[in-house]
Amino acid sequence: MSSDLRQYPLLPGATLGVLGGGQLGRMFAHAATQMGYRVVVLDPAEQGPASEVATAHLKYAYDDPAGLAELAARCDAVTTEFENVPADSLRYLQRSIPVSPGPAAVEIAQNRLREKTFFQTHNLPTNAFAGVTQAEQIAAAFAQMSGKAVIKTTQLGYDGKGQSVCSSAADAVAAFERFGSVECIVEDFVPFEKEVSVVLARDIFGRVETFPLIENKHHNGILDTCVVPARVDGATAKQALQLATSLADALEYVGVLAVEMFVCGDALLINEIAPRPHNSGHFTLDATSHSQFDQQVRTLCGLPAARVDLQCSAVMLNVLGDMVLAEGFTWQQLCESSDSHLHVYGKSEARAGRKMAHVNFLGNDADELLARVAALNTRR
Ligand code: AMP
Repeated sequence: MSSDLRQYPLLPGATLGVLGGGQLGRMFAHAATQMGYRVVVLDPAEQGPASEVATAHLKYAYDDPAGLAELAARCDAVTTEFENVPADSLRYLQRSIPVSPGPAAVEIAQNRLREKTFFQTHNLPTNAFAGVTQAEQIAAAFAQMSGKAVIKTTQLGYDGKGQSVCSSAADAVAAFERFGSVECIVEDFVPFEKEVSVVLARDIFGRVETFPLIENKHHNGILDTCVVPARVDGATAKQALQLATSLADALEYVGVLAVEMFVCGDALLINEIAPRPHNSGHFTLDATSHSQFDQQVRTLCGLPAARVDLQCSAVMLNVLGDMVLAEGFTWQQLCESSDSHLHVYGKSEARAGRKMAHVNFLGNDADELLARVAALNTRR
């Protein structure tokens, strides 16, 4: 982020760039265009969820100098919608226009070992871990854990891909080799009670606004449902929001940040971060006074992060390709009742495991909403 505050705020009529063309970019574009900004999407794909709704689409690779030069020339500021955008591309753009989140934070989030090391250096609680680059290092790394571990590739893993639970060093070596002997992290398996996340916005003035704590349920390694507010005690919720705020401050972060944590008894352990709006924050499109995408626009433009109020309980259900392809599926079932809000991403083809849409169910009682979601007959 440029330290020159004179170029802020960027007001409606300005042009905002986004690196990445998926559903997060699409929802950013919706929020930005609603506020009167133009949106230019840089995405190598011919067509995609974000480019379909943006003002313009630049079809270049994320590291193509011609594409980056055009993006810098056409935009007043740039953000990202996925963490694997090359940090050097952000550095290049930052020479001429504000970029948030900045390359340093994105670089940390791109690598699990850098991420955990950052937590540790800043006294933020996380589980035990060790980096490995060779099979010979695995036995010693495994011995530092509590008997059960998870081995993960340090880069490019998502939705449970590139990771394996191991009960022995031999299991971990086999997984390491399956992953192509690339750099990995061996981390202690956490017998958590719940997974939660905090989504927050930190503005150029260093002010942080947190969304309420989110409870996350996964299915086959992919986020399935989110419950808001998370069903944890008040002290745990408060501590989670404080930890995430300290982390954002330590990163000197500008933009929307998601922090995933495990709840383990009284303790919270930070698992990972995402330097962008997050799937678990999609409830904010309907259940809070401002959405995570509104906050992305505001923080990018040098406007203050908005204070956020939760207006009701919410359950967010991810609609994966599996559900769309299942016999008997109809979109109608997902938008029949007036308290369900359907958001479809416009992907041309449904595939198993692919995120196609989400639905926010709103009400006064999270358990009742969960029961309704469980009763959907196209559920799996
Ligand atoms: P991640 O890609 O790190 O978010 O991992 C995907 C999912 O795997 C998490 O949401 C957890 O459900 C599970 N998981 C990851 N790391 C651990 C761990 N150290 N202990 C137990 N479960 C884990």
